Amino acid sequence: MDTVKHSVFSGMRPSGRLHLGNYIGALQNWVALQDEFRCIYCAVDVHALTDMQGEATREIQPNIREMVLDWLAAGVDPERSLVFVQSQVPEVMVLHTLLSMVTPLGWLMRVPTFKDKVRQLQETEESVSYGLVGYPVLMTADIILYKADTVPVGEDQLPHLELAREIVRRFNHLYGHTFPEPQPRLTEYPLILGLDGKQKMSKSLDNHIELAATPEETSARVKTAFTDPQRLRRTDPGRPSICNVYALHKLFNPDKLDEVYQQCTSAQLGCVDDKQLLADGINKTLEPFRERRREFVEKSGYVEEVLQEGARRARAIARETLSEVRDKMGISEVTL
Ligand code: ADP
Repeated sequence: MDTVKHSVFSGMRPSGRLHLGNYIGALQNWVALQDEFRCIYCAVDVHALTDMQGEATREIQPNIREMVLDWLAAGVDPERSLVFVQSQVPEVMVLHTLLSMVTPLGWLMRVPTFKDKVRQLQETEESVSYGLVGYPVLMTADIILYKADTVPVGEDQLPHLELAREIVRRFNHLYGHTFPEPQPRLTEYPLILGLDGKQKMSKSLDNHIELAATPEETSARVKTAFTDPQRLRRTDPGRPSICNVYALHKLFNPDKLDEVYQQCTSAQLGCVDDKQLLADGINKTLEPFRERRREFVEKSGYVEEVLQEGARRARAIARETLSEVRDKMGISEVTL
């Protein structure tokens, strides 16, 4: 393994194109960290199976391509970083099984995101799949297979990382120091709210704005955003402190913040015009990203090439770690 100071790992599920929350909350850090560290970025397709089943799984392959195009357009650089698909390094599934032997069920059932997900899927704790309960174990395997110690994620992933550290501590205690404890790396804005202004921006909640949307689609989406619920008439003054559109201005119109604040609180600026101003700011900020994405779309075979090379390099690291784990856990190597 390379003798670098830190090793970075992060993954995203191939659920389609990315949204502003993914970009601001995680992807910007993915790009920034490449300057200093060895980075490994993974399309976690097996994780996608926790809530995609049957016919829906036909979307996984096209989704991987769409998502990787977003990564490349954002500045993930395959010359410096490993980019690959989780299932193409099957060693992760073996490590997942081995880690599941040292992970108490109670730890998994207590994770707050597990309870949220059960509610969101309208299931019960008894009816959800074994895979959903074990989601953080697979995530831990993803990270530690590469002995990564730094994980750039959004705030919603913190409970999973806490659990990953507990699993690592337990493994290291039982089998001797093997893995570093993975630490989260948050961006300046680790939680972006959705257009409903209440829950995190998320594709599954349909409150998101896609990074690669057209300017027209972006404007149409922004128009659906909730603003200050007490602002019923055009002449009512707005309250930027509780308005998510204003929160998004901070990211996409930083030079217009004072003006927007002043005009909103004095009712000179109505919500319709305010939203158009936000859409213009988003479109202007994302134009270079969208342009680069168009260029990558036209590079025939490039995404496939990147993923193949990434899987090859990732597998070499994975085999080495897995061999060490098997040895420590008394599970013999495959000699066939
Ligand atoms: P998963 O579905 O596996 O939880 P996602 O694919 O939804 O992960 O998200 C990928 C990354 O984007 C994760 O690091 C996650 O924390 C981050 N992220 C997702 N939604 C938001 C959001 N609304 N605000 C900030 N970060 C987010």
